[in-house]
Amino acid sequence: MPLLGCIADDFTGATDLASTLVRNGMRTVQLIGVPGPDQEVPDADAVVVALKSRTAPVAQAVGESLAALEWLRRTGCRQFFFKYCSTFDCTDEGNIGPVGDALMAALDCGFALANPAFPTNGRTVYQGHLFVGAALLNESGMEKHPLTPMRDANLVRVLGRQTRWPVGLVPFTTVEKGATAIRDAMTVLKEQGRHWAIVDAVTDAHLFAIGEAAAGHALLTGGSGVAIGLPENFRRAGLLLPLADPGALPQVRGPAAVIAGSCSRATLAQIGIARAQVPVLELDPLATPDAEALAHQAVQWAAGRLGTVPVVIAASAPPDRVAALQAKLGRDAAGALVERALADVAEALVRLGVRRLMVAGGETAGAVVTRLQVRSLRIGAEIDPGVPWTYAEGGGEAMLLALKSGNFGAPDFFIKAFTMLDGGTA
Ligand code: ADP
Repeated sequence: MPLLGCIADDFTGATDLASTLVRNGMRTVQLIGVPGPDQEVPDADAVVVALKSRTAPVAQAVGESLAALEWLRRTGCRQFFFKYCSTFDCTDEGNIGPVGDALMAALDCGFALANPAFPTNGRTVYQGHLFVGAALLNESGMEKHPLTPMRDANLVRVLGRQTRWPVGLVPFTTVEKGATAIRDAMTVLKEQGRHWAIVDAVTDAHLFAIGEAAAGHALLTGGSGVAIGLPENFRRAGLLLPLADPGALPQVRGPAAVIAGSCSRATLAQIGIARAQVPVLELDPLATPDAEALAHQAVQWAAGRLGTVPVVIAASAPPDRVAALQAKLGRDAAGALVERALADVAEALVRLGVRRLMVAGGETAGAVVTRLQVRSLRIGAEIDPGVPWTYAEGGGEAMLLALKSGNFGAPDFFIKAFTMLDGGTA
């Protein structure tokens, strides 16, 4: 029976949280979208439901989060975690406040801490103010975000604008004193009628202390950072046994492939490195602006080359080529065309027997996972920070899937990922 039930407001954020939990000793499964009534309860210590609710209309985000909570409660989870971005991505309307309020009401707990800190990635909270590196959130570039511009770094104020309830602060000086002081401060805030507390955190030690202080809380909210302290609570309570390898995945044999739709600098460099070692096909959507024809080319090319050495099929292109296709078709249509082509390729490759598949690009990964009707991902060992191998189940046959957000991974990522599988670490 799972111990921790998590609801994440986007897909890659869900994987980030799931990876954090595995690293800290919990076997974790990520489910895609609100689980249906027939969704089996995974054999895992933590379940992360990945929604796409960060920028959805408030009512939709609240509705889906409550439906996910309801399903997680039925599985017997003892504690719940609402995961959002470490840059606290939201607008004055939501969705962090309204979703948190609704989860609190459903759980009848009347209080939740909010902590997006992720010191390893430079996100820290001091006196309620969120920093990205040395810059305040509103001077970090996030103030120009196209969907959720963050123009105020004071999270007490930011959250205060979108929740019905008063928001308090557990300041640095209290957090420094450790778990008992933090727990007491949160109790006082709750007694004063505050339903939320922004909790300062500058180091991982702070996050561990906050996790310990919240051991008895029904609901926590935050980035993946604050989840690092939670597995230890379950171990201390004798509910979670120490495991040699919480990221162990079933072995899956079968041909390997990489599908790349990210045009990020990191992905372009990874394709460049792969070119010297494995077969690489670069699609040219500008010359062939037709999803079906592109997919056909790719599948014809790949069919005779499939094996344990991965084939790489990439639509990825440098900015001038992307701009040219966008000028020709419009930005959304260009993206949609390439995503459709790559989803077609993924489906065909799986039909041809591919069982180890890497997808590069957030939107591209979303399109592929949807097409393959993947419903759940058991989270395995990380290839590079934030990108684990996963064991995917859902549509057809089980397979190993790695979903890489565009900018993630070292230059040799594609090769390393498959070598790691053959080394038996996943
Ligand atoms: P990232 O994680 O790097 O943001 P995404 O997959 O989320 O990657 O986004 C990349 C977008 O670029 C996708 O919509 C993809 O279809 C599109 N794309 C990929 N190759 C090309 C290309 N050659 N021209 C135009 N758009 C492309």
